Amino acid sequence: MRSIAHNLSGIHHITAIASSAAENVAFYSNTLGLRLIKKTVNFDDPHTYHLYFGDHIGTPGTILTFFPWENMPKGRPGTGMITAIAFAVPLSALDFWRKHLADACDSRTEERFGDPVLHFTDPHGLPLELVGLSGLPATSGRQTGPMAPAHAIVGFHSATATQNDLSATRTLLMDTMGLTLVDQSRNRYRFAMSDTQAPGHYLDMIVDPNAPAGQQGGGTVHHIAFRTQNDAAQRDWQSRLRKTGLSVTDVRDRHYFRSIYFHAPQQLLFEIATDGPGFTVDEAEKDLGKSLKLPPHYERMRPELEERLDPLTG
Ligand code: ZN
Repeated sequence: MRSIAHNLSGIHHITAIASSAAENVAFYSNTLGLRLIKKTVNFDDPHTYHLYFGDHIGTPGTILTFFPWENMPKGRPGTGMITAIAFAVPLSALDFWRKHLADACDSRTEERFGDPVLHFTDPHGLPLELVGLSGLPATSGRQTGPMAPAHAIVGFHSATATQNDLSATRTLLMDTMGLTLVDQSRNRYRFAMSDTQAPGHYLDMIVDPNAPAGQQGGGTVHHIAFRTQNDAAQRDWQSRLRKTGLSVTDVRDRHYFRSIYFHAPQQLLFEIATDGPGFTVDEAEKDLGKSLKLPPHYERMRPELEERLDPLTG
């Protein structure tokens, strides 16, 4: 029998691609009111930033990260990708958001499983949603962004992926990863992870046999990471996934968490990340996101990187 510790409790982070670091920071900090919690480099390509946004401390389930490759041409959302990212906001805040976003982008509203959903895109075309929920935990006075607590984003609500066919993905999600199918409407299937009190515990799958394959570029999602509690649980996931024949990476140290990666059907890239050690491992909570943080093996490149990377203000 599977213990609670060995369930995936929710979304850990989502990583997407932007086409300008400065525009990315302006939109997510000022327009959406998220906190820039970490300014580091892409560990596989240190000449570009890796920017992390989240709540005041980067709680798993609130973390949206970007690889901003300057002037990266737009990609095309499609199968094998997360095709929309949804944040939760208080139901009473949706009117505020509709007006607030009107200066920055077009938006439209629909209803999904009984909740109103406001759709819009970021400056580089990334599909975003705000889901209005009643009974959300009140955002604390520690909210550091420009939004009033009554309006502020409290974390992810869900992510949506698009696939041509669900059968293999459904087997992976339910039989191997332990998600539960909790709702369905037309071609949208909603799967839930175990921690229903935490932000971001839904993964929606849209089944569209005719959808084209996604093309990575500006405004598309690179991968989604799910939460696991600790290193032992992560090793357990690694061996469990490998036993089903999946090709799973070794554990990679991402400094703020440790990660394994594997592909779901149609090349949908999944990661399982540990909750810890978290973002205060190399700077104090009050200073998060203020200065460029480098992993030890890139410190010797700091002068070169600081000169090449645009200075950003969060
Ligand atoms: Zn990741």
